[in-house]
Amino acid sequence: MSKKRILSGMRPTGKLHIGHYVGALENWIKLQNDYESYHLIADYHVLTTNLDTSEIYNNSIEMVIDWIAAGLDPAKSLIFRQSQIKEHAELYLIFSMLVTTARLERNPTLKEQVRDLNIENMIYGHLGYTVLQSADILLYKGQAVPVGEDQVPHVEITREIARKFNNQYGLVFQEPEPLLTNFSRLQGLDGDAKMSKSLNNTILLSDEPEEVKQKLRKAVTDPLKVRRNDPGRPEVCLVFTYHKKFNHENVSEIESGCKSGELGCVDCKMKCVEKINMFLEPIIYKRKQMENDIDAVKNIIADGENKAKIVAASTMDEVHKVMSLG
Ligand code: ATP
Ligand code: MG
Repeated sequence: MSKKRILSGMRPTGKLHIGHYVGALENWIKLQNDYESYHLIADYHVLTTNLDTSEIYNNSIEMVIDWIAAGLDPAKSLIFRQSQIKEHAELYLIFSMLVTTARLERNPTLKEQVRDLNIENMIYGHLGYTVLQSADILLYKGQAVPVGEDQVPHVEITREIARKFNNQYGLVFQEPEPLLTNFSRLQGLDGDAKMSKSLNNTILLSDEPEEVKQKLRKAVTDPLKVRRNDPGRPEVCLVFTYHKKFNHENVSEIESGCKSGELGCVDCKMKCVEKINMFLEPIIYKRKQMENDIDAVKNIIADGENKAKIVAASTMDEVHKVMSLG
């Protein structure tokens, strides 16, 4: 039986944070052995929130370095830029006829962005970015989409568009399923529900040990635990969430120490810092190696683009055929 296909992407807005890792990238790395994997540098999607394109290419390189440093293997996973494959734009145009504006306005993730970024006048391309995302996924006939929780509504819209297209023109697309990790929405250092670059509450995959320490030092904890011996409530503490992910083996000890008051917040944070740094160390090491050979990264992307173009063209041939266009 042939392998199922994964499609997932990220916007090249700079270096990645641990939220990107635990919500999506970790799953990409885990699943690349069992799925045919396509990973998209979603460069056009950057324009939804920033029209300045001067840094997109550099940010794409930085992001791919993070992907590979964390364990994505270009021999198993295709890596390519959306902007280099014209079929994304073409399928997006067709799909934009298959969804109502009311449906797009109901998207809860879009509403969250409006809140987080204080958007007063939404541009047309931002309202429609989910349609472009649907084209990104279905162009490669992605069946599984490993993403963070905020992307689930987009996969749902993709399913609806696939269904609408198939009903209208004939069966071309399968409806994809989202694949979530156990940490599909990692909290930010400020206690916000989501770690996000735009909220400035992140730990980067490339943060050096001292930086992680400084950041964690300022992280919010249980507001009712003021003095060292006060009993704490791990279930409301974001540092405890990080322990669950990065210090899994000691989590019950941390929990009981916090609850009894024996473990103070500063000590608890330092234990967490140590574990996060242990996790980041090999990633930073690999990143530094790759930074010395940027041409290799560029070649990986060029190779991915050559291969992705073939798949994209073949899907569009099918689309044109069932639509009696061409
Ligand atoms: P940010 O949200 O930091 O501004 P972005 O919007 O540029 O970053 P996306 O391309 O939207 O990043 O996200 C890439 C992937 O990472 C998506 O699958 C998204 O769900 C996931 N992701 C981003 N932040 C988190 C988080 N805090 N927890 C879990 N998954 C996350
Ligand atoms: Mg985002």
